[in-house]
Amino acid sequence: MLLGKQGAGKGTQVTRVAEHYAVAHLATGDLFRAAARDGTPLGVKARRYIDRGELVPDDIVIGVVREFLTDHDGALAASGFVLDGFPRTRVQAEELDVSLGDERLDIVVNLDVPTEVVLARIAGRRVCVQCGATYHVDHSPRDPWWCDHCGGHVLQRDDDQEDSVMRRLELYEIQTLPVIQYYRRSGKLVSVNGEADSESVFTAVITAIDARREAPE
Ligand code: ADP
Ligand code: ZN
Repeated sequence: MLLGKQGAGKGTQVTRVAEHYAVAHLATGDLFRAAARDGTPLGVKARRYIDRGELVPDDIVIGVVREFLTDHDGALAASGFVLDGFPRTRVQAEELDVSLGDERLDIVVNLDVPTEVVLARIAGRRVCVQCGATYHVDHSPRDPWWCDHCGGHVLQRDDDQEDSVMRRLELYEIQTLPVIQYYRRSGKLVSVNGEADSESVFTAVITAIDARREAPE
């Protein structure tokens, strides 16, 4: 599982990690954005919180993650999975332990990035409205601003405006730091410096996961 501050680059890394190990992945933020774009009841509800930089209430998030775990039950048991941006609160973390049984969560990777760096990354971040691929003003798609992968329109997220970014970072301190503490105490946490270029961060994440797989507690 990957945790990290807003804009720490979780999305890009999680997609690559899931491809590398050929396992399923769930990014709760991407899932809510897709639901909001499609106008489903879940999306309409989630959007009210997301656009203001608030967290979606625990019961909604937990319902979505449970559904993912149930849908992928066979594949998950066989090969595993990666979660991105979940859990973000202590209640979600405890609920995940109950759903999985403590044995099945191998490692929690925290991508560590200083707040100034995160703010600069978010300010330049642009996202494909269709498939969620992430770009940056310094790394635009080949045909600006249309997605390399799916041709969708690449825009700034509504919640990447300054007010909601500040609120998200504030909630990170209040709600998500305790989650990091929670996994540190259980011995599952590995912190990886997320400041380097994407390639080096990916290598560090894979190395941490492989080390854990070879030497389980
Ligand atoms: P970022 O890490 O850049 O903020 P995400 O895509 O992970 O982006 O999340 C975007 C928004 O979706 C969050 O600000 C929050 O409103 C909602 N969200 C995503 N995951 C969760 C979660 N586990 N619990 C509560 N809200 C969530
Ligand atoms: Zn796309």
